[in-house]
Amino acid sequence: HTKRAGRNGYHFFEASMNVNAHNQLQWLQDLRMALERKEFLLHYQPKFNSPSGQVLGAEALLRWQHPTHGLVGPDEFIGLAERSGLIVPIGEWVLNEACRQMKVWFDMGHEDWTIAVNLSALQFAHADLIDLVKDTLSRHGLPARCLTLEVTESTAMHDAENSLKTLQKISDLGVDISIDDFGTGYSSLLYLKRLPANELKIDRGFIRDLADGNDDAAIISAIVALGRTLNLRIVAEGVETTKQQDFLTSVGCDALQGYLMGRPMTPEKFLEATSNLQNSVVQPL
Ligand code: C2E
Ligand code: MG
Ligand code: MG
Ligand code: MG
Repeated sequence: HTKRAGRNGYHFFEASMNVNAHNQLQWLQDLRMALERKEFLLHYQPKFNSPSGQVLGAEALLRWQHPTHGLVGPDEFIGLAERSGLIVPIGEWVLNEACRQMKVWFDMGHEDWTIAVNLSALQFAHADLIDLVKDTLSRHGLPARCLTLEVTESTAMHDAENSLKTLQKISDLGVDISIDDFGTGYSSLLYLKRLPANELKIDRGFIRDLADGNDDAAIISAIVALGRTLNLRIVAEGVETTKQQDFLTSVGCDALQGYLMGRPMTPEKFLEATSNLQNSVVQPL
């Protein structure tokens, strides 16, 4: 299997694989065929209320079952998909599949869950986004409140005035908005105040290096306080240790996500793992 690449996917093609132009072209050709060949799938990572441990739903995370390279993660191809524009049809597939799955869970009685779908910058700027979201929800008969759209802080900050309009339209549909990788962009407080978002997701980097009394601990506390003031839910992603969990709970994070409580998994495993928890306390899955 290939080496893990950087978050933006560029490293995969430009460094870690040390590939030549022909290989890049090959990957692009493979990516072009992937939808048609039904090689994409979604894994679902649970999200838990803190401190109750109640399951709040899942984040849908894209995977590519490549015919020769095996299961490939999004960090390795989202960059190429974005640069080639293929992220638009791929993103449509993700939204549709996530809503389809959420409707299955809804019909099983999990009416209080929400499914979170990540949007790329290009999708977010795409004129058809609002109609796409509206049509997808109605096609599946899924209430808007069961869907959350995640956009990164950088995406939301880029072309701030237009972003605000798009976010407002999403919000008007009744769909929740989560600002992903929060703390890595450059939001001004004035902008944040105007943002029609429901949730801030503290970037994994702050959680990773978290230790009692260090800068990251102080930053996290500050973000939680900011969330209180602006009436935004604060979610921590990348929770891997009980120490991190305890800290995040003690400062008042509203929800937690991470390998400690549950990795991204197939929909079957997800259902099994969450029903085993019986909505009790957060426990490692
Ligand atoms: P993200 O939205 O910030 O998702 C969180 C990433 O952190 C996921 O990586 C998840 O598997 C990983 N993660 C969760 N808990 C832990 C933990 O405790 N420790 C560690 N080390 N990692 C954890 P993944 O699935 O590889 O996705 C990477 C990024 O790719 C996502 O970051 C998101 O930006 C993007 N992505 C994933 N699916 C999609 C998609 O359908 N569309 C778009 N446009 N982007 C996607
Ligand atoms: Mg996300
Ligand atoms: Mg994130
Ligand atoms: Mg991220």
